Amino acid sequence: MSVRYQTVLLFGAPGSGKGTQGKILGNVPGFYHLSCGEVFRNLDTGSELGKVFIEYSSKGLLVPDDATVKMWHQNMHARTVLGTYKPNVDLLVLDGIPRNVAQAKLLEKHLNVLQIIHLVCRDKEDMILRLRKRALKENRVDDAKEEVIRKRWDVYEQETFPVLEYYPKTIVKEVDATGSPAKVLQHILEAVVPIQESHFKNPLR
Ligand code: ADP
Repeated sequence: MSVRYQTVLLFGAPGSGKGTQGKILGNVPGFYHLSCGEVFRNLDTGSELGKVFIEYSSKGLLVPDDATVKMWHQNMHARTVLGTYKPNVDLLVLDGIPRNVAQAKLLEKHLNVLQIIHLVCRDKEDMILRLRKRALKENRVDDAKEEVIRKRWDVYEQETFPVLEYYPKTIVKEVDATGSPAKVLQHILEAVVPIQESHFKNPLR
């Protein structure tokens, strides 16, 4: 029988800082971070799925749902087999998935979503500026052109935002994404530490 992973979703528009915060959280014992975009970027670009990823992401579009969820599930399974992610010890922090309601439904049997951290950014232009800066540092096909970034925002507003409505309002915590990384982290920890403690024992004991 497959386990349902105890999960927190990091949710927010492109550039809202999900990856930055997820990485920090993932370094804390008892938390395990996985970014779906990162898994895609690490695929061999010569593989079938690697090619599909480049085709869609370079246009700012989502990779088709079935392929995405299948890849995600295989990846999670591999991590549990390798023992890097321990479902009985770690709270899973997911970023970048589910990206639409269809994915949320497909993930239902794999995830027990305990909390959603919604990184709220009211200034779209500020976020677009962040993405442009990131594009200069990291070699990302999806942030290289302004029109692709804007397309990613459209996709977020039309397809991803409705995911929030799919889950109960009571588990959604809004955090202002425009604060400093430390401030944003502080607010995220306020929400997730009690959840981690109520579902797991101290991982260092
Ligand atoms: P960001 O967080 O900056 O929006 P990601 O690194 O999460 O970007 O994703 C980069 C690209 O990878 C997306 O634009 C999309 O093409 C693809 N991708 C990532 N996650 C998913 C997903 N859950 N479903 C479909 N496509 C995805």
